[in-house]
Amino acid sequence: MSTTGHTATAGQRATGAVAPRTGSPDQPVLRVDWPDCRARGLCAELVPENIVLDEWGYPLVTGPVTRRALRHAREAVTSCPHQALRLIEPVRR
Ligand code: SF4
Repeated sequence: MSTTGHTATAGQRATGAVAPRTGSPDQPVLRVDWPDCRARGLCAELVPENIVLDEWGYPLVTGPVTRRALRHAREAVTSCPHQALRLIEPVRR
């Protein structure tokens, strides 16, 4: 069982579903493009504050990215070898 309270199913991964947005809409969130992800877990190593791996090695986003973890989140996005990880930042008005 995931420690995040959210566990993606194989069906969710197959359809490209992503973990629901949690936390404040003012905080950035990471999203995984499941069809492109190859489950190698690099992102979980780079941003352990926000990503854990499921039993198949697919990343699960645990919550919004804090200011403290933002640099790690950006590094994980740029380091993903399959461009399967995105950082969704809030729109500033
Ligand atoms: S680094 Fe990219 S391909 Fe690897 S597990 Fe994370 S999202 Fe998937």
